[in-house]
Amino acid sequence: MTSAPATLDRIRGHLVGLRMPRALEVLEHLLRQLERGELSPIEAIDQLLDEELSLREGRRVKAALKMGRLLNIKTLTGFDFGFQPSLDRNRILTLAGLDFITRHEVVHFLGQPGCGKTHLAIALAVEAVKAGRSVYFTTLAELISSLAKAEREGNLRERIRFLCRPQLLVVDEIGYLPVVAGGGNLFFQLVNARYERGAMILTSNRGFAEWGEVFGDTVVATALLDRLLHHAVVVRIEGASYRLRRHADLLPDSAAARSITAPTPQQPRRRGRPPKYPQPAAAATE
Ligand code: ADP
Ligand code: MG
Repeated sequence: MTSAPATLDRIRGHLVGLRMPRALEVLEHLLRQLERGELSPIEAIDQLLDEELSLREGRRVKAALKMGRLLNIKTLTGFDFGFQPSLDRNRILTLAGLDFITRHEVVHFLGQPGCGKTHLAIALAVEAVKAGRSVYFTTLAELISSLAKAEREGNLRERIRFLCRPQLLVVDEIGYLPVVAGGGNLFFQLVNARYERGAMILTSNRGFAEWGEVFGDTVVATALLDRLLHHAVVVRIEGASYRLRRHADLLPDSAAARSITAPTPQQPRRRGRPPKYPQPAAAATE
């Protein structure tokens, strides 16, 4: 089967007109395979369209990741579950099914620095982008500073509306930096606006009992937690820092012990102070 040069030219013109650059690129190769009988006509059409679609899908995902400020990409396949035995792999894979987004739930990742909270939050956000959901990633400090700026400039309502648009909002690093005065209130306004309307993933190295301290205001912290724990999935990562896995010997004794073995439920977690994170009963999905 040899294609008439005029027809071939017309097909090329159509692919240019239809803006199908990848199809144009693979056309010759597919035709040669067709002529050699290595492909049936239907397979050739299928492959031609598939190549173009993959290119477009790749571009869409790339643009959506950029829009959502997901720049440092992490994936679930890149996560070593063997390093965090306390973490239930199936629970994370269930989250990757993204029903929590449909149900407008809040996922909390809690644990020590370096245990993989941001990695998992980004990996789930990437899954959401691939599935066509809109996502926006920010740290709590950036979020509060953007809300405070909007308030100063008289655009707070617009800013909150903008932050309510993505189906999934990731707020990373709750508890690392002290929240500026009035910051908790601004965050509350956003949380309240998204409550039961949009999903969130939050990461924190501090337990819920410490949120009064984190936000410098127990009333705001209580109101925040009231919304953020109502339809919530709490994932506690008990294990050690992945960053420090090869340098446990450089750490002070207590941190080194934590970084070598994740504490089992039988072991006392910490002497003297109450536990930072809620007990496993709180780790349920409502
Ligand atoms: P956290 O947010 O809890 O402080 P990160 O998620 O930023 O920690 O993890 C620190 C670094 O270690 C990142 O580069 C992350 O990709 C990597 N990391 C953490 N846990 C794992 C893991 N279990 N498997 C693979 N990489 C991991
Ligand atoms: Mg982090």
